[in-house]
Amino acid sequence: MTQLNFCPDCGGALLQFHVVAGEPRNHRYCESCHTRHYDHPRIVVTAFIAYQKKLLWVQRDLQPQRDLWAIPGGFLENNETLAEGAARELREESGVDIPAQQLQLYMTGTITFINQVYVAFRGSVTRPDFIPGVESQACGFFSRDECPWDAVAYPQVNDSIIQAYDDLDRGRFEVWQAEMTENRYQLQCVSTRR
Ligand SMILES: [Zn+2]
Repeated sequence: MTQLNFCPDCGGALLQFHVVAGEPRNHRYCESCHTRHYDHPRIVVTAFIAYQKKLLWVQRDLQPQRDLWAIPGGFLENNETLAEGAARELREESGVDIPAQQLQLYMTGTITFINQVYVAFRGSVTRPDFIPGVESQACGFFSRDECPWDAVAYPQVNDSIIQAYDDLDRGRFEVWQAEMTENRYQLQCVSTRR
């Protein structure tokens, strides 16, 4: 977690973890002004966009992981729905404009070692058009074999991306839930449809 040394509200020293029902939580509590300073995982929204058997990738032009490639996505903003955030990130990074209502829920995941929750949507386009945004150097629709696998920004989610290529190849999309911890990666199908 981010280390808070002083209370942002009153300037008091934040030395204590908040204790709830006798157990210390992973956030601080200011004993001077009795304020809880929550520190929760961030939500990342991403968009898997297919053109035929290819997926849309963007080459990042900002840190972290500048010059490396990723599936379009970013942090959810306040006052957005998950799909709206995914559609916005997609539009900003690639110029691909798909209304939020046309994105389908595809994957959820927790990555405990970086304190992130990600929610991935999927969609498709009928033409492989894009306009790299201000935070992107380039974009491209890549088949599994064309992917810049040696230059991906977040290799910890490679298995999820490979699953997306598998689903594209089969032409059938399940809904997936991933759990990633320091020593475990599990991707589980949670669709009820069979
Ligand atoms: Zn305080």
